[in-house]
Order: sequence, then structure tokens, then C-alpha cells
Amino acid sequence: MGIKLGCIADDFTGATDLANNLVQSGMRVLQAIGVPPGPVSADVDAVVIALKSRTAPKLEAISDSLAALRWLQAQGAQQIYFKYCSTFDSTSDGNIGPVTEALMDALTTDFTVATPAFPDNKRTVFKAYLFVGDVLLHESGMQNHPLTPMTDPNLMRVLQSQCSRKVGLIDYSVVQAGPQAIQERIETLRADGVGIAIVDALTNQDLINMGPAFKHLPLLTAGSGLAIGLAQNFGLSSSKQSAALPAVKGTRAIVSGSCSVATNAQVARFIKSGHAAIALDPMQLVSDGDVVDRVLSQVLPLLESGPVLIYSTADADAIKAVQAKLGVAKAGAMIEAAIAAIACGLVKGGVGQLIVAGGETSGACVGALGITQMQIGGQIDPGVPWCYAPTEMAPHHGIHIALKSGNFGSDDFFEKAFAEFSL
Ligand code: ADP
Repeated sequence: MGIKLGCIADDFTGATDLANNLVQSGMRVLQAIGVPPGPVSADVDAVVIALKSRTAPKLEAISDSLAALRWLQAQGAQQIYFKYCSTFDSTSDGNIGPVTEALMDALTTDFTVATPAFPDNKRTVFKAYLFVGDVLLHESGMQNHPLTPMTDPNLMRVLQSQCSRKVGLIDYSVVQAGPQAIQERIETLRADGVGIAIVDALTNQDLINMGPAFKHLPLLTAGSGLAIGLAQNFGLSSSKQSAALPAVKGTRAIVSGSCSVATNAQVARFIKSGHAAIALDPMQLVSDGDVVDRVLSQVLPLLESGPVLIYSTADADAIKAVQAKLGVAKAGAMIEAAIAAIACGLVKGGVGQLIVAGGETSGACVGALGITQMQIGGQIDPGVPWCYAPTEMAPHHGIHIALKSGNFGSDDFFEKAFAEFSL
């Protein structure tokens, strides 16, 4: 049996966000980092392939997306979901429009939809204008984004400037009238020669109304919000079962290279609760080549007694001092490499449940551990699920891993995460 839904996400955290929403809606989901070299490795309903196509040159974004499409089709995907950011982040080259049209050509379909709406995250679309909270997109700070500045909140104009096909609109009054009305509007737009329709959504119910109306479209393009209404099209409904992960054996550890406010509070709370914690001193990494080995020999014997935290997390003054000595990029890369090496040592030494704090730090750890696929489990805090990842480094060939980007999670995140699972 093949997969039901095949998703192509234009960045890594966006892929996790979509995977998380699909799991909540009742689908069993695997997230792949890049196009996998072999067939799907688990019995799942959906696969989300994480690309880096949001800010890549246009031709590269297209060819990577087409490679992902071919892999998903080979796994039997019945419908394709192209996921972009809920703020419709696009470079001056476009990328959302060109990738959408390349996927339409490859799927030989004459019609698709586009909606970044995600009301739970305060992204709403009204008359094709994208709101972020109470303000329009171009007043939200996104106009100053270093890579994808968004200066026009009208998505019909933005997308039309990136596409050769005609862009139209399914407005909120149609969406609120329900699936039948949406379907009729699609047929009218099609007859008018519209190839891609922006779809308004103000509430979760609007997204749920879209689900059945989009059942037979070969391609959907959206933020992660649209995911909440799709499972029923495949005969699935929300259940705890979709978040079930294979069991693992082993001990527990946390590595943290995040210096965000939330992580600082989480580290402080974990230490205050009396758990074992070892601080990494970045300046020592420069002068002493044995730090990683020494930390590991200190940590490994402690693991039998409970979770251990290894952290370079520091406050703003301490970070500035290190950066002044080493330079921002060098300090970051050196600490990421050290934490990734420690993560590998921990997993080889029997850690079966690993939390990584920090977005860049997570990327470094996943790469060093050779992880290319993750099955998505239950959410610990919004946006941060436990995952099961096969890795040859683990004595039992797989671990549970949670990748927490900086400002996610409540103060008691680390303890809460481990409380979710008994080993
Ligand atoms: P976040 O998700 O909180 O932004 P990241 O891992 O993405 O966390 O980024 C944190 C960056 O700061 C990484 O490059 C990391 O190596 C670096 N870093 C971690 N600890 C320190 C420190 N004590 N001094 C300077 N830089 C640090």
C-alpha cells in the first residue's frame, strides 16, 4: 500500500510544522530531510519532504521540487501538497509561483489553489489580502525580512507577478458557504481560464470546509493550515494512534546550543530541579582539543541515574564575550560541531531519547547522526513533537528525538518531554 498524501515543504521547520498538523488531524507521518535515496521506510499515510527551496535560486528550487514529486509519486502518493510559509515568503525570483507551475505541468493539471492561511497562528486571508495578526503582511515586519521581504499584502498580485497562468480568487463568502459552493466556484474559475486560485480563510472552519472541496485536486499549495481539513478525504480521523512511535531502549539526555530566552529558562529550571547538567565552555573548545571526549566520559556514567543536560546556553553578555574573541560565525560553527559530536557520542553510548535545543544546533546534530527520516509522534508543546529516527549510530538502530527551536516550549519543557514516555 502506498502513501496517501505526498508533501513538499520549502524549508525544514516548515516541514515539521506541516507534519505536526497532519499528525494532529489523524495521519501517520514521516518527515524526510531531502529526497530519500530509497523507498519509504515506515507504514505511514503521508510523507513530508523537507527541501531548502524557499531561498534557493529559482531553477534549483524547481528541480529539487520535481525530484521530490517523482519520489512521492513512486511511493503511490494520491495527492501532492506544496507547503510554503504562512507569510508567503518568496524571493525576488518568486519560487512559490514557479515551483507551483512546474508541479502543475508535471502533474498535468490545469487548476490548483493557494492559501497560506493559518488562523491558529493568526495568519488570515481576506479578499486575497494576507493579515499577520491585526496588520497587513507588509506592515508586519515581513517587509524588512533579509531574504524574502514581502512588500505587497495582496496575494493575487504577488502570485500573478510570479506566474504565467491566470490567478483568481475564491473569497471568504464562498468558503463560508461550504464545500459545495467552493466546488462550484472552482468550476467557474476553471471555465474563466484561471489556473491558480487564492483562497480566503478567516477561521479553522474555513479550512475544514476546503478539505472535501479539494479532494480531487491533484495538487494543493498552502501553508500548514490547510492540513487540518484533509485527513477525512482519506478516510482518517483524529486519533492518538497516528502519533504512536516505535519503542526505543536506552537512557535520556538533552543537548542545548540555544541561547534564546525560552531555552535559558528551561535550562535554569532543569538544573534547579536537581538534575545532572554539564556546562560547555566555548573558550575551552578553542584551547583544548579533548573537551568533547572529556564531557562524554563525565556524562556516560551519570546517564543510568536519570537524564543529563549538556549545554552551551548562556546569557547575552557571555555570548558577546565569546563572539568578540572568535567572531560570530566561528563561535557558532565551533559550538554546533562540538554539540553534534557530543550527541553522536551519547547515542553510541546508549542514549535512546535525545532532546536537542536550538534550530541551527538541531540541523548540526541531525546531520552528524546521519538522520534522513523521522516519524512524527505526539506534540510535547506546540510545534515540537517527539520523533522516531533510524540511525546506525544507535545500538538498537533508532532513537526518539525532539528538535526544539529556540523560543519554543514552556519552562518545564525538558521534564515534560520525558514524562510523556516511559522507557
Ligand atoms: P536558537 O534556535 O535558539 O536560535 P540555534 O541553535 O539556532 O538556537 O542558534 C544558536 C547559535 O548560538 C548556534 O550557532 C550556537 O552554536 C551558538 N552558541 C551556543 N552557545 C553559545 C555561546 N555560549 N556563545 C556564543 N555562541 C553560542
